[in-house]
Amino acid sequence: MVASSWYVIVVGCGRLGAYVANQLSLQGHDVVVVDINKEAFGHLSHGFSGFLVEGDATELSVLKQAKIEQANLVIASTRRDNVNLMVAQVAKTILGVPRVIARVFNPEREETYQKLGVETVCSTIVAGNSFLFLI
Ligand code: AMP
Repeated sequence: MVASSWYVIVVGCGRLGAYVANQLSLQGHDVVVVDINKEAFGHLSHGFSGFLVEGDATELSVLKQAKIEQANLVIASTRRDNVNLMVAQVAKTILGVPRVIARVFNPEREETYQKLGVETVCSTIVAGNSFLFLI
């Protein structure tokens, strides 16, 4: 159990989202995972103790179902830059979530997120740097 636990919403329960959600849940944080496809929740481990919300995270009603107004952190981890940007924008600028981190594929779009105060993880750059590091 961590000293202070966060309320974290992870949008997208593919391999990446499920990995992050599993780790945060194991660390004792309160985690809610949102995915449009309920089959995706199968990526979560048996030890995952959070909640699941099935629905399109670009819909405000779905984010409200995940109790986004209580969230300390939202992680947008789908494969779709447009979905992640929309979720991040709503979370940060409309609902005032303190920290929002979004997965982004197109490095040229990182600046758009950063202007909104959204932190980014660009899988393309991270993977590219890992290759270069190994070489
Ligand atoms: P990945 O396989 O890591 O790319 O996972 C992406 C996950 O994001 C999949 O499980 C998708 O079902 C999910 N996803 C994609 N679009 C949305 C959306 N609009 N709302 C919620 N989940 C989504």
